[in-house]
Amino acid sequence: MDLRPPERTPRYGRGELPPPPSGTLDMSQRRKSNRAGDRPPRTPLPTPVVYEADESLLAEARARGQNALRVISRLQRSGHEAYLVGGCVRDLLIGRAPKDFDVATSARPRQAKRLFRTGRIIGRRFRLVHVRYGDEIIETATFRRAPSESPPGSELLITEDNEYGTAAEDALRRDFTVNALFLDPFEGDILDFVGGMEDLDGRGLRTIGEPRTRLSEDPVRILRAIKFSTRLDFRIDKQTWSAMSRCAADLDRSAPPRILEEILRLLRSGTAMGAFKKLRSCSALEPIFPGLHRHLDPGRRTADSEAVRQSFWRLLEALDADIQSGELPSNAVLVALLIHDLVEARASIEAEELQGAAIRNIANAADSILEPFTSGARLPRKDASKARRLLTLQGRFTAQGKQAFRPLLFCLTEDFQDALALFRIRSRAKGRGYDIYQGWVDRLMQANELTDEEILEERRHGRRRKRKRRRRKKRS
Ligand code: ATP
Ligand code: MG
Repeated sequence: MDLRPPERTPRYGRGELPPPPSGTLDMSQRRKSNRAGDRPPRTPLPTPVVYEADESLLAEARARGQNALRVISRLQRSGHEAYLVGGCVRDLLIGRAPKDFDVATSARPRQAKRLFRTGRIIGRRFRLVHVRYGDEIIETATFRRAPSESPPGSELLITEDNEYGTAAEDALRRDFTVNALFLDPFEGDILDFVGGMEDLDGRGLRTIGEPRTRLSEDPVRILRAIKFSTRLDFRIDKQTWSAMSRCAADLDRSAPPRILEEILRLLRSGTAMGAFKKLRSCSALEPIFPGLHRHLDPGRRTADSEAVRQSFWRLLEALDADIQSGELPSNAVLVALLIHDLVEARASIEAEELQGAAIRNIANAADSILEPFTSGARLPRKDASKARRLLTLQGRFTAQGKQAFRPLLFCLTEDFQDALALFRIRSRAKGRGYDIYQGWVDRLMQANELTDEEILEERRHGRRRKRKRRRRKKRS
């Protein structure tokens, strides 16, 4: 799967954009109106610079986001403000296909829900309306504002986020300027309260507001910055980057399941190697995965510390290549890859020797490394134990000579395809073993063609070999 956009030039050339908004915003020739409204805001809020979306962008929004446009149309006809918002607007502007389309509206959740037969209110921390069209769900969120200021001296970390607000307030509580653009797909207006268009044009990632404050409020934004900058190939603004390094230690205060989710997204992004290099260089690896941090940076320079790092980067590079060629590894494969080198180091064995007693070492090492993932980060136990099995099964692909082992039956086991995916990525990383992988692909095809009778025969054959071996052992 090629994750690169088909066309990467911003729709707005540099010269076409007005100067960046600062203080009272400079209203340039592209501004269409001032949408601050008549309501006096509680605190001075920015007025938006309004850009005119070009026709091709609107056509793309209509083609890909027709259900979201239906939601917006219904909300607007009922007298509410409603826009496309967030990642979908960002992606449309840089010519990428949006993953999904989110709607932001002035309608309160109950008002929005009433307008749609398939609308459901979900969530406790933030109440959202899900509007369902077949398989597609349009997430419709009421404008929110940042939670009221905490009393002086209290921690910045946001734990509650459910105060409703205006579009301007909703823009300001978002994470990065390029993620806070609002598009009215019918008027063709792009509302920019935070200078997001300028950053998009310069392919830069910048927090909205003071970076240290915004990252301390929610340290997971550090991982999001890394995700967006590697996925979109955006440069992280200097102040944002230095705040990321300073706030990285705060990641240990964030909810582990959120961190795990972002880590899995990074692994699945097709740019995992770049992302993990950035995680390491902004010191974010230590709080989120101390074991891996110590493995890559043991504190003292050892002769093989560079080789250890290279081995891990090669694995991620191979994963990226795998994903870019259209493979979709499961969570268990991703987790197995993430801990692979660490498990090998702990079990102190070579990958080629994953047999016999070594399997127990691997299983034990994997168990102890995975424990914090399952207990703290809520990695489902079934994914963790599958990751462990995938690691212990790797020796099967290279094991020779055991007659009771029936390769074709192995191909038909539940874990085989994931174990083979892991083997393929490991072979790619090492630059050898690809012929062995091909051999297994052929065996899998053969196995898929076996009749029930042939499968039974394979089983009987395997059992006979086992029994004979046992008898021989008894006699001796
Ligand atoms: P993707 O293409 O990965 O879905 P996205 O920008 O749509 O990227 P989401 O995680 O789907 O990201 O979130 C939707 C929007 O919600 C973001 O664009 C951003 O405006 C806002 N948002 C999400 N997470 C945060 C956060 N932790 N802090 C502030 N705003 C956030
Ligand atoms: Mg999204």
